[in-house]
Amino acid sequence: MGQPTLPRCACCGFRTGCSTCPICFWTDDGRSDVHDDVGTGSRNGDLSLADARLNFSIYGASTPRYKDLVRAPRADERP
Ligand SMILES: [Zn+2]
Repeated sequence: MGQPTLPRCACCGFRTGCSTCPICFWTDDGRSDVHDDVGTGSRNGDLSLADARLNFSIYGASTPRYKDLVRAPRADERP
């Protein structure tokens, strides 16, 4: 029996299974495609998934203001 496969974070790609990812602080709002830029009124606000991924690559968080709140991914959360 392998470990259950948790859903991947749409932003950072790690498998945390949390609605708000502790690694990048993206909140899962059902968007998973970079071209899906419709604001949902969720905690992500008007942030597009493409911008969140870009921010994660630069700051290690989906927005710069969350960069002090995120934590490093664990080995078992890697995609
Ligand atoms: Zn994430």
